[in-house]
Amino acid sequence: MQPNQKQLKTIHQTLGTCRWVYNKFIEINQLRYKNKLKYMNGYHFSKWLNNEFIPNNSDKLWIKESASKAVKQSIMNAHQAYQNAFKKQKGFPKFKKKQSTGSYYLIGSIYCERHRIKLPKLGWIQLKEKGYIPNYNIKSATVLKEFDRYYVSVLVDEKPKTIFKPLQTEGIGLDLGLKDTLFTPKGVHIKDLRKNKRLIILNKSLKRQQRKLSRKQKKSNNWFKQLLKVQRLYRKIKHIKQDIKRKSILPIVQENPQYITIEKLNIKGLTKNKNLANAFQQVGLGYIVEWLKQKCCEYGIELRQVDRFYPSSQLCSQCNHRQKMPLYKRTYQCERCGLEMDRDVNASINLKQATDYIVIV
Ligand SMILES: [Zn+2]
Repeated sequence: MQPNQKQLKTIHQTLGTCRWVYNKFIEINQLRYKNKLKYMNGYHFSKWLNNEFIPNNSDKLWIKESASKAVKQSIMNAHQAYQNAFKKQKGFPKFKKKQSTGSYYLIGSIYCERHRIKLPKLGWIQLKEKGYIPNYNIKSATVLKEFDRYYVSVLVDEKPKTIFKPLQTEGIGLDLGLKDTLFTPKGVHIKDLRKNKRLIILNKSLKRQQRKLSRKQKKSNNWFKQLLKVQRLYRKIKHIKQDIKRKSILPIVQENPQYITIEKLNIKGLTKNKNLANAFQQVGLGYIVEWLKQKCCEYGIELRQVDRFYPSSQLCSQCNHRQKMPLYKRTYQCERCGLEMDRDVNASINLKQATDYIVIV
C-alpha cells in the first residue's frame, strides 16, 4: 500500500491503541490474579473498557478514535493468549513493546478497485501492486506494518456464481457429425457453417486476399501488409464461427440435462482423410468440445465421452441391430425392425443410451 501522511498517522495510532488495549488486558488480569479474583474474559473486558473505563477516564478517549473492530480483535488476541496458557500450550502472555512491525484487523465496509482499497477509518488507499486483490465479497482485512512498508491482506468469501437452473431433464447425446455439425434427439443442431451467407462472403474475400498475397514478393513491405490483411480476415472468420457454435450449444446446456454424451474425436484419423479433413476444419469440433467442458463444469452437468470405436451411427437406436452406414447415406433404415430416422438423430440417441463411457467433467 501507499498510504498518505494522514493515513500513516491513523495506521500508527491504531497500532498503538491495539497494543495499549492488549497490554491493559494483561495488566487487569494480573491485578485480578494477585487479588485472587476470577479471570476476566475478552467479552467482559471489552464491556468494562467501553462502559466504565473510558467514560471515567476522559484522557483515554483516543481509544474510541481507532477502528472498533481492530480494538476488539486485539482484546480477543489477548484473551486467546490466556486461553492457550490455561491449556498449558504456552506461557502467560507478556506485555507488548513498541515495535517497528505490527498489524491490526479490520472488518466491515471494505471495497477494492484495481488500484486502490477502501478501509474503515482510512478511506481509499493507493495500492502499489495493482489488480492483485479480488474486488468482491471481501470479509475482512489485515493491515500490516513492516518497518517502512505497509501491506494489506484480505479474506474473501467466495460464493459460486448463481446460475438459474431449471430442473434436470434426462440426458442428451450430441453427435458431432460432419454434415450438420451437431445433432441431438430433439433436433437441435448447428446450422451448416458452410451455408452461412456472411461466412461465404468472408471466405470468398479471404481467398481473393490470399491470391493477392501469393503474387507479392515474399517478405517485401507489401507482402507483410497483405499478410496482415489475410490474418485479420482469418481471425474474423474464426470468431464468427465460434460465436455461432456457442450460441447453438447454449440452449442445450441451459436445459440442464443430467448428462451430455459425446464421442471421442479422432482428430488424427480425420485429418488423414483429405475430404473429411476439409470438412473437419470447417466445423472445428475441438473448439466445441472445449467449450462444452467449460459449460458443463459451470452448470454441474456430467459430460460423458464414448470410445471412438463406439458405432453410434451403425446401431439402430430402437432394436440395437448393427449395420454398415456409409457416409453418403443420410437416413438410417434398419434392416431388422424397419426404423427410419435421420442418420444424425439416430446416432445422437445411441450416444444418449450408451452405457460404456468415461466421465470427463
Ligand atoms: Zn432396428
